[in-house]
Amino acid sequence: MNAYESACHYFANAASVMDLSPNMKKLLLTPEREVKVQVAMKMDNGEIATFVGYRIQHNSARGPMKGGLRFHHDVDADEVLALASLMTWKTAVVDIPYGGAKGGISVSPKSLSDAELELMTRKFVDELQDVIGPDKDIPAPDMGTNAQVMAWIVNQYEKYHGFNPACVTGKPLELHGADGREEATGRGVGLLTEAMLQKFDRPLTDTTIAIQGFGNVGSFAAAYLHDHGARVVAISDISGARFDSAGINIPAALQHVSRNGSLDGFDAEQQISNEELLTLDVDVLIPAALGGVLTKENAADVRARYVVEAANGPVLPDADTILHQRDIVVLPDILANAGGVTVSYFEWVQNQQYFRWDLERTRAELAKTLIVSFEKMWAIATEKHIPLRSAGYLMGIGRVGRATVLAGI
Ligand code: GLU
Repeated sequence: MNAYESACHYFANAASVMDLSPNMKKLLLTPEREVKVQVAMKMDNGEIATFVGYRIQHNSARGPMKGGLRFHHDVDADEVLALASLMTWKTAVVDIPYGGAKGGISVSPKSLSDAELELMTRKFVDELQDVIGPDKDIPAPDMGTNAQVMAWIVNQYEKYHGFNPACVTGKPLELHGADGREEATGRGVGLLTEAMLQKFDRPLTDTTIAIQGFGNVGSFAAAYLHDHGARVVAISDISGARFDSAGINIPAALQHVSRNGSLDGFDAEQQISNEELLTLDVDVLIPAALGGVLTKENAADVRARYVVEAANGPVLPDADTILHQRDIVVLPDILANAGGVTVSYFEWVQNQQYFRWDLERTRAELAKTLIVSFEKMWAIATEKHIPLRSAGYLMGIGRVGRATVLAGI
């Protein structure tokens, strides 16, 4: 099953609970626009390189389309479409006035020099500038992109359209970014993990956690959970996983990564593999890296009682069924990692109003938005006896469907 088939599977599950008509299903699954472009450029050594870039605009029923740009060698049309549709449901679940989109370039950004990365980004914007914009489609960071890439995007976009900070979010603070955007996805994962555990009368101080992935999302989630008393016993990145039964020293790990760029050389009680991390005997497992890490092959071995999807699509449908049968609670990506796009919305609002919020306000509004959405998702799941994921899709599809019908086809 590829990424798009997985996304359709989750959609279809919810659509059957909702009794959605086949015509409405087709309308909500079909993307509004798919853009595939050639990004050709001269590399530092004078040779010509050609990359393929995508922007898929899935749905705009609730507002301008919104979603990240991913620079990763696995990027292809299927994955981008799956992630674009996920953004449609995600923005609807947290009830921010956006539709969903996603884009990316099939490239390993680490193989490029800074100058090549900048040139590739600017050339990509040249190709996309007429289909994106503050009221059309607003890109943001995702895997392999960051605030610096967003800075190049806004600068290149403004060459065509004049001053336009709201055309992209996740920008550096110096270029109209929002304080709190960088931490937002990981912080949201932390806040929601805490809220979910409260439903089971389990305080964070009595909880062990394993986090797969120590990039932007995993590291801020680890920091939040550690600061609020949880014992984060395992973390990982491409250099492998670290385990410490007494709890990893998260501030030391964060410092190590900021100095060295990865966990390579970071000392802990035990060095384990990324695969072993997924099946550790912990309370909460947080996959915060790539999609598709929990599969039908390893889902039966998961020993955590709760899985929080900090990454997009980390649990494949077969694995989801196995986890559900084993009474393992899954907090789905459409809410678990929605903190990022929520603070992207706050950034866009500030840009449109030429007014800056302080960090305290951003954090308070983020918590309010996520907790209200979580309570609603929880109530639907409890009332209908369905998993949280289906409840989330019900909320998302319901809101998008109603907007579509009210506006008229
Ligand atoms: N790339 C992030 C996501 O998958 C953030 C998107 C945004 O801020 O627009 O949710």
